[in-house]
Amino acid sequence: MQQLKLFNSYTGKKEIFKPIKKNSVGMYVCGPTVYNNVHLGNCRTFISFDLIFRYLKHLGYKVKYVRNITDVGHLENDSDFGEDRILKKAKIDKIEPMEVAQKYTIDFYETLSLFNVLPPSIEPTATGHIIEQIELIKKIIKKGFAYEVNGSVYFDVLKYDNKYKYGTLTNKKIDELFSNSRELSGQGDKKNLQDFALWKKAEKKHIMRWPSPWSDGFPGWHLECSAMSSKYLGNKFDIHGGGIDLKFPHHECEIAQCEAANDIKPVNYWLHANMLTLNNKKMSKSTGNNILPGEIINGKNNFFSKPINAEVIRFFILQAHYRSVLDISEKALLASEKGFKKLTDSLSLLENIKPSDKTIGFDIENWEKLCYDSMNDDFNSPILISNLFSAVKFINSINDGKSSVSINDLKVLSEKMKLFFFEILGLKITNKSDENINSKTDDLIKLILKYREKSRNERDFKTSDIIRDDLEKLGIIINDTESGTNYNSN
Ligand code: AMP
Ligand code: ZN
Repeated sequence: MQQLKLFNSYTGKKEIFKPIKKNSVGMYVCGPTVYNNVHLGNCRTFISFDLIFRYLKHLGYKVKYVRNITDVGHLENDSDFGEDRILKKAKIDKIEPMEVAQKYTIDFYETLSLFNVLPPSIEPTATGHIIEQIELIKKIIKKGFAYEVNGSVYFDVLKYDNKYKYGTLTNKKIDELFSNSRELSGQGDKKNLQDFALWKKAEKKHIMRWPSPWSDGFPGWHLECSAMSSKYLGNKFDIHGGGIDLKFPHHECEIAQCEAANDIKPVNYWLHANMLTLNNKKMSKSTGNNILPGEIINGKNNFFSKPINAEVIRFFILQAHYRSVLDISEKALLASEKGFKKLTDSLSLLENIKPSDKTIGFDIENWEKLCYDSMNDDFNSPILISNLFSAVKFINSINDGKSSVSINDLKVLSEKMKLFFFEILGLKITNKSDENINSKTDDLIKLILKYREKSRNERDFKTSDIIRDDLEKLGIIINDTESGTNYNSN
């Protein structure tokens, strides 16, 4: 069997994976900024790292997987002067910023669980690690790579570049990286346009604020990840991941901060997952070119003519390599649905196959090797899936009486098919009748809410309250908001 190789974005090469500590892996992946519902593009990145997490565990590594929640400091346009995304949403919805963070953190968990994504080992929040972030800033100032102006602290990129070189991940020089006007927008108090904020002094009305030696303020987005990764994984760890759109400036800045503080490059292997596109454009919250997983699953969207279930969407995502761009379309989803059915039918067929004296028509040992080789080659799930389809062909031909399988080979085939399907690819087979019941219940609750709305409009508050209380007894909690009534069930 081949050794595990991974494509290290830092060196631009596939490398044999050698963990720092034998049999253990420390992995950090940038988590979501919780100011909106996660779209399917975000989910693709987390499904990609779920595959990697699952496979590393399968290989026997003890994996400490840290994935953060960004609940402060990620400003609009990824800049140092935009509005905090969470604060902006809180103003629009007229709720506390922490209510925004709570609501969309729950949405994030619920959405990922639809796709059978395993929880990480540690899920730290940025607001829960303000002390660590302040300590890290102090360290960087002490080393001479950051400076304070009017209560804000900035990282001195040019000074760092002189000693260590900024841009080693993207392999670009500072001038190339900052040639674009967006990256240079707004200098404010900074010494140089390339500098970035480690700590920002909060304006009077800015309610997300914490005391610090420099001002009442809030931390910079890049700093959060450096503070949380080093706290849980140490100053040097094995794998850092995230979407490819985070390479610059976010990951370049993470490297700079850690190296300035500790005089050591923080990460051995940088892994970047590529983007999911819709109509060949990046799926993104800010441009509106996105689709929510729930809208695909319930079929209520403007893109696809029928509902597609979550396992099929996960399968569709894993049919592309994590480093390739993947465009979602009706045609591609329907092809995945067909393929997924073929695979699950074959798994059921496998349960009823009768073994023969010998295996004819298939080399199980070589097949198993090819499956592992594909995953060991930078987690190549599409090649793994094509190998699973070779097994499907074989299973169908046994069923048709054209091939046969020995008792030992049948055992290996059955075990490995299940291992790759359920454990490593993380796929599931959902009972169709459960899905129908769930969608019917949803329709029924909406019907009841419609009648409650009618009684409220007629000022019959007694009836509307009875409906609310009775639903609450069933664990269905109604929320009346400015944009209408919605519900949560438990
Ligand atoms: P955000 O909440 O915007 O910070 O994004 C959370 C994660 O989703 C990051 O790792 C992004 O790189 C990733 N991401 C954002 N858009 C896409 C996309 N269209 N396809 C894949 N990953 C994405
Ligand atoms: Zn990050």
